[in-house]
Amino acid sequence: MQNSKFQKRLFGTNGVRGVVGKDLTPDLVLTIGEALGTMRKGCIAVGRDTRTSGETLAKAVKSGLLSTGCNVVDCGILPTPALQYLVKEQFDGGAMITASHNPPEYNGVKIIDADGTEMGDEETLRLEQLIFDLSFSPLPWEHVGYEISAPDLVRKYVHAIVHHFPDKVGSGMTVVVDPGSGPSCLTTPQILTQMGCRVLTLNGIMDGTFPGRLPEPSPDGLRTLADLVVSSGAAFGVAHDGDADRSVFIDEKGRFVEENQEFALIARHLCHQKKGALVTPVSTSRMVEMVVKDEGCTVHYTPVGSIYVARTMRSLIGEGKEVVFGGEGNGGLIFPDHQFCRDGGMTAAMMVLILCLHKQQLSALIATLPQRTMIKDKISTPHGAKVLEDIMKRYRKEILDLTDGVKIIRENSWALVRASGTEPIIRIIIDAECGDYGREFHDELIGHISAITSE
Ligand code: MG
Repeated sequence: MQNSKFQKRLFGTNGVRGVVGKDLTPDLVLTIGEALGTMRKGCIAVGRDTRTSGETLAKAVKSGLLSTGCNVVDCGILPTPALQYLVKEQFDGGAMITASHNPPEYNGVKIIDADGTEMGDEETLRLEQLIFDLSFSPLPWEHVGYEISAPDLVRKYVHAIVHHFPDKVGSGMTVVVDPGSGPSCLTTPQILTQMGCRVLTLNGIMDGTFPGRLPEPSPDGLRTLADLVVSSGAAFGVAHDGDADRSVFIDEKGRFVEENQEFALIARHLCHQKKGALVTPVSTSRMVEMVVKDEGCTVHYTPVGSIYVARTMRSLIGEGKEVVFGGEGNGGLIFPDHQFCRDGGMTAAMMVLILCLHKQQLSALIATLPQRTMIKDKISTPHGAKVLEDIMKRYRKEILDLTDGVKIIRENSWALVRASGTEPIIRIIIDAECGDYGREFHDELIGHISAITSE
């Protein structure tokens, strides 16, 4: 697959993002709407997360779409995967106003294709060209589109997930849900309740100022959730990011479940049911590959970014291959039987099923996974390309994977060195067996990179 993401000027791996009123203005979003309406015809679904700027920006994108002849269905506030599901089922495309896990002052636009996946690189480059050239003009009065408001459509998404599982499979289980004041206030508590769980919510009232915690579900921000899980005797706690395409978990003892462990646990369950490929970026812990291979399945690696995972899953299926599961080691998991995008609500529901089937506590299941350590670091340097070239030369006698940056693969560990596409930094990830391997590999790499950047 061609990885052309670095050529994009406006859209990053997950759409356009920026601080509202500074980088991201209603004018820019209007232009995005006009460009999208010029490229796409038919009925476009528009949704937003709970950010305070969401209404203004949704109106701007709708105005652009309507003026260029598209019809618009405004789905109101809903998770990104809910909008993606609705687009896949019944619309010609979508535009989601969200900044996902970014702080409250940010917002963004994510463009959804008719099949429910995020717009691919080639189409995004075309869209950017239209935006930069301003090569569109509003249509006369008799050709502008019309708008319908449909805030209840989100229920179809809830229904689809609930009906993916055995009836009332979660009966007797208590779960604490922390939607972080985001759009999953409308979905995850309802999904789990309809699956039979007793659901307690925290930060369960939609609020774009995010008074309880920031939209990134970090271990620090989830301490109150952890306390509530323990005090309520819940089986687990689940928290979403600001647009609920990711889920992270707290075990029954109040401990944060590292996202690669979450991925490995669900991967092991799904690969036990069905044989085929799991698709994930090169940055995912080897823990996932180990459990997948133990179950007789294979791993297909992609560049970093959920869109590459989703599109690779689709293309493998198009070649007639079985694809069991996909996702990233950040709690963003893709269930191909449901849809080809990360889905936080589906992930929470799957965890209910796994705990019911295994009749074990979450901490006990996590303890059965391979133990790995992961170290993440970054170095500021304007010479990213030179660093990558030097690292590639220095380690040329070892096993290298050049899918995205340079990944050096050893028996007990691997290291991934990537240059950021948007900032002058080098990102380093090391994944290793427990012990000193990870720290030693990290120190070795930092030594080389410091020497290169100080030349
Ligand atoms: Mg997100």
